[in-house]
Amino acid sequence: MANVKTIERGFCSLCGRALLPNEGYCSLRDDSHICSFCAGKLRVMHPLTLTWDKKGNQAKHDPIEELSLEEAGKDLENAIAYTEELRAKYDHHNAVFMVESVTTEKGGFLKPPVIYACGRVIYGCFDPEDKARLLHKGSASGLTLTGVWRLASYGASRLECQGTGGKPCALEFSGKNLACEAGDLIVKD
Ligand SMILES: [Zn+2]
Repeated sequence: MANVKTIERGFCSLCGRALLPNEGYCSLRDDSHICSFCAGKLRVMHPLTLTWDKKGNQAKHDPIEELSLEEAGKDLENAIAYTEELRAKYDHHNAVFMVESVTTEKGGFLKPPVIYACGRVIYGCFDPEDKARLLHKGSASGLTLTGVWRLASYGASRLECQGTGGKPCALEFSGKNLACEAGDLIVKD
């Protein structure tokens, strides 16, 4: 039998790509839909915000859903210039992550603690095994990422996540005497 893909919502109003349920899509203010690839390009300009109530239920605030198709189209044209401005603001690092909170875990016998830096990718992308630097109060420490996780009410979940621009996530790493706190940056060069 032929492998027929189910198209859920027709086609992306920006690039014409078929909207497949397993790839996700964004619905805009005027009820048009855009594909996850176009939404990904807009994400740096329109970061996703996650919040949790006392019961740990997640609420998502997605500014892309508040755009009209026309606004989204304009922003898509400006997305590269916007990212270049951000890069200039952040010393031209290839990728920048802003730490908003930190949780740590014991690292096991004779191993350094595991650090979960929770926050948001400002731009660029972070993947497991990436070499990065932690910028903390004027000092820079080299580190290797061991995971990129979705956020949960308690910090990092064990669900993998793409660490791309504008997305909230947790970066996992470990190291001796590494100090990491809200306001620090993790960068790739
Ligand atoms: Zn698209």
